[in-house]
Amino acid sequence: MSLRDDIKQYGRELGFHRVGIAHPDVLQNERARLSEWLQLNYHGTMHWMERDPELRSDPSRLMENIRSIVVVVHNYYTPHEHTHRPGTGKISRYAWGDDYHDVIRDKLDDLLSFIKDRVGQANGKICVDTAPFMDKAWAVRAGLGWIGKHSNLITREVGSWVFIGSLLLDIELDPDPPMAEDHCGTCTACIDECPTGAIVEPYVVDSRRCISFGTIEFRGETLPDGITKDLDGWIYGCDVCQDVCPWNRFQEPSNESRFEPRNQETSLDLAMIADLTHEEYLDRFRGSPIKRAKLSGLKRNAAALLECDDTPISDSKEYNRANGSS
Ligand code: SF4
Repeated sequence: MSLRDDIKQYGRELGFHRVGIAHPDVLQNERARLSEWLQLNYHGTMHWMERDPELRSDPSRLMENIRSIVVVVHNYYTPHEHTHRPGTGKISRYAWGDDYHDVIRDKLDDLLSFIKDRVGQANGKICVDTAPFMDKAWAVRAGLGWIGKHSNLITREVGSWVFIGSLLLDIELDPDPPMAEDHCGTCTACIDECPTGAIVEPYVVDSRRCISFGTIEFRGETLPDGITKDLDGWIYGCDVCQDVCPWNRFQEPSNESRFEPRNQETSLDLAMIADLTHEEYLDRFRGSPIKRAKLSGLKRNAAALLECDDTPISDSKEYNRANGSS
């Protein structure tokens, strides 16, 4: 087998759902679209996205002598449902299990070691949402899927419940054909069902109205006005646009047990979050993606949900006791 086939096979053995290869060109069109999006202030307070668009769109600025990019997708769907209970806040699926940055990085480390063993001399740089790098665009270039109207990557095989990771390499590998087609067709389910109207036109999300941005990335003392009344029960992230996507009917359980819900939780008790000390927070969310929101963000989100929630906390505690949860 050729080196590229060996890499793909070993990647699949590591649990990646698919592995593709892209040539490290400059992402000219994507850079122009990013610039338009930034000019409209759709990035909200994510000011780091304004910095150095050349670096973000030109992988040779991230790694000298780059010759190829290996892009992987890892399915994280687990067959559990969101918990809709009074006095609780729903967690986005991606954050149910262990921090994907660590899980995907470990596997890409392993893949890089495999490549080094195979070719003798190779250098690589791993990107898992950790560098100014357009991971979704590279997944499309590597033929792994297309960007849906909700702006997430969709794969034909397992839908959009996937994490993306990339390995920048200084060895030449034949690229895969990019995904040229968009398979959203006339569907507009994600646009129609978004609780806050954050998908302002197909493929364009105004982060300032997005529940995920507000509950995870936004650092204000109160949530942005556009989402406070329409939180729809979410305390951390939001899955509505992906839950309604017809391509997610092809979802399959992940082969990675670390993506199973920690403590079997798909929601958080709002009263517990309101009372959580910093030490308890560090202990409870160590190794979880949820720590991205920081304790102050979680408490702010819980307070906003409690304000919208018609059920008094005491009743929710009764409900939890009656249903066997703390
Ligand atoms: S819900 Fe419909 S329009 Fe939105 S990403 Fe899925 S297929 Fe595309």
